[in-house]
Order: sequence, then structure tokens, then C-alpha cells
Amino acid sequence: MSKTVLVINSGSSSIKYALLDPDSGESLASGIVEKIGNPVGTITHKHDGEKFVVEEPVPDHGHGLKEVLRLFEEKGPSLHEANVVAVGHRVVQGGRFFSGPALIDDSVVQTISDLIPLGPLHNPAHLKGINVARELLSEVPHVAVFDTAFFQDLPEEAARYALNREVADKYSIRRYGAHGTSHQFVSQEIAKLTGRDDLKQIVLHLGNGASVSAVVNGHAVDTSMGLTPLEGLMMGSRTGDIDPAAVFHLARVGGMDIEQIDQLFNRESGFKGLVGDNDMREVWKKCEAGDQNAIDAIDIYIHRLLKYVGAYTAVMGGLDALTFTAGIGENDSLVRQRLLDRLAYMGIVYDPKINEIIRDPHPRKISTDDSSVEVFVYPTNEELAIARQAVTFA
Ligand code: AMP
Repeated sequence: MSKTVLVINSGSSSIKYALLDPDSGESLASGIVEKIGNPVGTITHKHDGEKFVVEEPVPDHGHGLKEVLRLFEEKGPSLHEANVVAVGHRVVQGGRFFSGPALIDDSVVQTISDLIPLGPLHNPAHLKGINVARELLSEVPHVAVFDTAFFQDLPEEAARYALNREVADKYSIRRYGAHGTSHQFVSQEIAKLTGRDDLKQIVLHLGNGASVSAVVNGHAVDTSMGLTPLEGLMMGSRTGDIDPAAVFHLARVGGMDIEQIDQLFNRESGFKGLVGDNDMREVWKKCEAGDQNAIDAIDIYIHRLLKYVGAYTAVMGGLDALTFTAGIGENDSLVRQRLLDRLAYMGIVYDPKINEIIRDPHPRKISTDDSSVEVFVYPTNEELAIARQAVTFA
């Protein structure tokens, strides 16, 4: 009988879930509980091509998860019949404690809780999901899979900032990275696809949040997100790299407090702050209509990508494979085209027709045989990556 894993991604007011077969990769059901704590919440459960939506008050995560379990029994698939052998929990911040998945016990819960100062937005929400799931599904192992784990062994020169050592160490300030589950999954899949584990790879995870990693022989050697997911590439609503002195300036001259600056950098910048919209499809529409702000925003986005690809190629002393993934990476052929055209100097050649294929959920190579670097579009699947790691504890 095949085994399945329930994957849970618990946010502050939402719980995303998916039931997967870790061997075949098949998703048997998925869904989301939204607006937890609001007067009316929404639970959307998908199974067998059907979608069930329940609107009702969901006062807390416990109530939300109980409703999800009820929907599994009512609408299917029955979790018992599906042979659930483990629950995998996504955890954003694992600090320096976890370089791989961890079987959740009280001490792991305590460590995730101790890491709240480093992951103030995410870890408290994960803990809510973990605590209720451990209670409601107590008969199977629960496994924490950390977004930071793949970057735990970054070389010191990439992980340490040139910030006063005493202060940095006292406050645990270093590069932890994020999206690690996706970078690890995609880089491993590319190694399988090419039949080589001795690759120098760059993975561009371009979604609403965006990050890039450099991976040598399966090990991450650098990544663009840092202490938090704010650093690095320009994103949907985040600045990415910015001179930290902008913070001093906004405080001294603009009279802004830390919360306002945090909000500005994380939620009101990037495409949202430059164009007014963080969906690339809308940004491109504005470009077509001649909106100069949108045209400039795309130029800034591509410029930043170009800098990171150049820098990471230099860090690795070469590049064998460049892979696009996540919402923009997988679907936006214009972004890929704009970047790849600028990389022609490296000897990168791609097939414009294969690049333009849209809504193709399959991995594909878009470079030509004479390209100096193999270029891929590879759909990320963080749920499957979590399920595969969780099942090893079953
Ligand atoms: P993610 O965070 O990986 O879910 O990516 C979400 C982002 O992908 C959206 O905000 C869009 O900007 C982008 N996206 C999704 N579909 C398309 C598409 N067909 N063309 C361009 N961008 C897309």
C-alpha cells in the first residue's frame, strides 16, 4: 500500500495543506484555511478535480485544522485509507540549529520558539500549526522542514556580514537564506536530469518573493536572502538590496519609526512600490501601455538579476546550469528572454520558441546544444520536497 504525507504550512492567519504520495509525487488533495481570527474565514479543499469551499468563523488554528480533518473525511480522501505515515511542517527560520529536517519533539518545539526573534513573522505561526497538528494527529511522526537548512553550511565568507563581530554574534546576525527547500529540490532535480552531480548551478527562484542560490556539487555556496528574506533580488513588494543607510536617513530626515520603515521595505516597495502592482502580468500590461515607471521597474529587476548571475558565476569560477523556477521563473518568458539576451556574452544561447512555451508544467531545457551553459525551466514543488524529507522519519 502506498504511503502518503500531509504537508502543512501554517501562517499567522492561514493554514495551507497538501496530501502527497512522496514516491510518485502525486497530490491527492490540497487546500487552504484563510482569514483565521476574522469574523468569517474560508476553507477551500480540493480533491479529485473538485473544489469545496466552506465559509464560517475560524477563531483559531485548532478549529481550522479540525475542519480540514472533517473535510478529508467528508469529501475525501479519508486520511486513514490514504495511509498517512507522517506530517511535514514547513518552518521558515531554523537559525543555526538545523541543517536538515527534524523529528518534532518538545525540545524541537522549544528551539523553534527560541528562534522567534529571528523569524518574528513566521515561527510563531508555524508553532500554532505544529501544536494543534501534533494533538490532532498524534499517531504519526511530525517533521519540521526548515527553509534555512540548505544554507546552513554556507562558507563563512558568504554567511558572515562584515559587521562588528561581537555585535553580530551577540544578536545572531548572519546570512540564513530562505526558500532553501525550493533551491535544494530544484538543484537536485537538475543534477538528476543532467545525470551529473558535479555541477556549478545557479537557481533563480522568482516568485512574489525572489531569491537566487549558487550550488556547487549539490552544496549551496551562496544565496541572496540574508538575515531575513528582505535582502537580494528586487521582489513583488520588497526592496531587496538597499544601502542600510537609507534606514538612518528615513528615520532622521523622514521622521519614520522602525515599524514604518519595516513596512515600507517589506510591503510597499519592489514592483508594488515602483509600479503600484506586484503581479508581473499587470506590470507587463503597463509596459505595453507605455508606462515609464513599469518600464524602469523591469529594467531594475533585470539589472539586479544580471548582477547576481555574474557575481555567482565568479564565486563558483564558472557555470554549468542556470534554472528558472517559481511563479515568474516558470511562467514569464519575457523576463527569461530579457535576462538571457544579456547573458549572451557568456556564450548562453537559448531557443526562443521553447522559451515561449507557456503554461507547461513540465521541466524543460531552453538552451540550445551549442550553449556554454545549460538553461532550464523547472517547476518547483516545495510540498513534495517537504513530503520526501518527512517520510524518511516514518
Ligand atoms: P509565486 O510567489 O511563486 O507563487 O509567484 C507569484 C508571482 O508569479 C505572481 O505575483 C506573478 O507576478 C507571477 N506570475 C504568475 N503567473 C504568471 C504568468 N503567467 N506570467 C507572468 N508572471 C506570472
